Amino acid sequence: MPLKNFMTNPNLQPLVIIGGGPAGYTAAIYAARAGLSPVLYQGPQPGGQLTITGEVENYPGYPNGITGTAMMEDFRAQATRFGAVIKEGIVTKVDFSGYPHWLLLNNGAEVWAQSVIIAAGASAKWLGLPSEKKLYGKGVSACAVCDGFFFKNETVVVVGGGDTAAEESLYLSKLCKKVHLLVRKEAMRASKIMQERVFKQDNIQVWFDTAVQDIIGEEAVEAIQAIHVISQKTSTIAATGLFVAIGHQPNSAPFLPYLTVDNQGYIQVEAGKTATNIPGIFAAGDIQDPYYRQAVTAAGTGCMAALEAERFLHTPPDASFQKK
Ligand code: NDP
Repeated sequence: MPLKNFMTNPNLQPLVIIGGGPAGYTAAIYAARAGLSPVLYQGPQPGGQLTITGEVENYPGYPNGITGTAMMEDFRAQATRFGAVIKEGIVTKVDFSGYPHWLLLNNGAEVWAQSVIIAAGASAKWLGLPSEKKLYGKGVSACAVCDGFFFKNETVVVVGGGDTAAEESLYLSKLCKKVHLLVRKEAMRASKIMQERVFKQDNIQVWFDTAVQDIIGEEAVEAIQAIHVISQKTSTIAATGLFVAIGHQPNSAPFLPYLTVDNQGYIQVEAGKTATNIPGIFAAGDIQDPYYRQAVTAAGTGCMAALEAERFLHTPPDASFQKK
């Protein structure tokens, strides 16, 4: 339960940052340099989604590209250099009904914060088939970089039509004998450059207007049952792996009771800012961005959130807000 006499609480932090991706680390760099002593909880995937991607080619400052993992290590080193405290921990519950803000971690620890930057990112979406759940980790995956190695010289299926699906297919095409890419519409949504790379790769076969109807196998994936969405004709594709690359959903569940979100669960922020509907709570990165979802835009909003938190901490909320 939140404390009454919070000013004497040793667990009261000026600024807690939730999430260790580009947005969270950038917020930590700015906040630490501003002397706000931020504490950052990394969440379930330290380094964020970039750690499960391959080469990052479009982040400014890395002309030869860099792996996502190495880039996030650079971000982290820069944040700790200025005194940001990086901790393991997942925020599972919050109370933003008054001041200070209260957070509960997965290890049961409680933290109180004068301000919070939520940069908890987004997670992969799943198809929702019972067979997908049953065969998860037994051939079904959402991360080619993590699991592709297990399918060396085998045949796999990738589902999705965006940049992630293109990237996963290209990565797998270097390891696997054959990659079938199932795109549910008549065209891919991926950027032109990624599409061109996919179409040029001899061992990638693209199936348009095609969806996954079922995944066949008991103990391991044996085949994918695909359906042509127009003709309704089904095909069985023999494959040992299915990589699901159909987009992401924001990790906003713990904050839903307090924060305004859109119909997909993305936290809504003031136009051109990162302020949420609760004073002192800011949102940065993919958790508030259904549109751009790039590492560089996430970092940009992390910077904005830190600057807004700094201003907020210099002008504490009025007495009516301090109701605990
Ligand atoms: P997107 O939301 O861009 O694409 C999701 C794709 O999955 C769409 O083609 C969608 O189809 C398809 N899809 C959704 N649900 C299903 C389903 N149930 N069955 C079959 N197909 C489905 O997500 P991404 O993860 O690809 O990309 C997210 C963002 O990250 C984008 O902004 C992208 O540009 C960016 N990104 C950039 C990269 C880079 O620059 N190198 C690499 C990876 C991502 P439909 O088109 O029919 O809706």
